[in-house]
Amino acid sequence: MKLVRYGEPGRECPGIWLDATDSAPARIVDVRAMVFDIEDYNTRFWNTFGLARLRGLLRESALKTFPAEGIRLGPPIARPSQVICLGKNYRDHAEEFDAEVPNLPIYFSKNPNSLCGTGDILFLHPDAHRVDAEVELAVVIARRARNLDENNALSVIAGYTILNDVTNRDLQQARGQWFMGKSADYFGPLGPWLVTADEIENPHGLDIFQRVNGETLQQANTSQMIFRLEQVLADLSQVMTLQPGDVVSTGTPGGIGSARKPPQMLHDGDVVECEVEGIGILRNLVNVQYI
Ligand code: MG
Repeated sequence: MKLVRYGEPGRECPGIWLDATDSAPARIVDVRAMVFDIEDYNTRFWNTFGLARLRGLLRESALKTFPAEGIRLGPPIARPSQVICLGKNYRDHAEEFDAEVPNLPIYFSKNPNSLCGTGDILFLHPDAHRVDAEVELAVVIARRARNLDENNALSVIAGYTILNDVTNRDLQQARGQWFMGKSADYFGPLGPWLVTADEIENPHGLDIFQRVNGETLQQANTSQMIFRLEQVLADLSQVMTLQPGDVVSTGTPGGIGSARKPPQMLHDGDVVECEVEGIGILRNLVNVQYI
């Protein structure tokens, strides 16, 4: 099942994406029209067996749907309480970044307000000259989780999506920490949808790509992560309670534009595509202007 949120920014409605078939284009289920008390994919949704209720809804014969074409998709979940990211979680990226491969997971926070949807414009400030895209497999937490055991940690994952962890390298290096350089408005494209966990048999065996204007910059497999999801979720939950809807992003592989020779930074008019096998393609157009 693919969860989407559609409509104007800040006023998105919950939907279920129905893939195109040989005979019909893609459609979206209007969830609110069928289940009056599912207002959004928010904390209440996760805490009230929301996914099970959506599955029940899909079994109904008279689905209320509309054509997906031309519909804006926002981030596939309501604003999370936190977006936790991993730094340097692929060896080749750690080596291209500063050559130090971590012994323990490196975490940082990304401003949840930076999230936007597939198809949204990625606005860059005219003074931001060294901005990278980073393709990442991200998970959404289904329930409150504390002191998870590695053996059952994956059971708290509601589903999988793609985060473009857009980064201003100048800010990242100048400020001595990563939060500023990662947290500008629009620096968190997330989507295109949330694929429920039952559809991803092995999250550590997925091909992962980043393309800019059709040219492949990053190409790897999630099997190459240094710290796997069960380790990461168990580790985090020893210290903090993970909340339903929280996003944990697993880091980016090697190949980022700033590490290339010559560097290949994002420019006005670029089309960035982040793809993860089994999930889909997150696509955003870069636009340089004051916002
Ligand atoms: Mg990253």
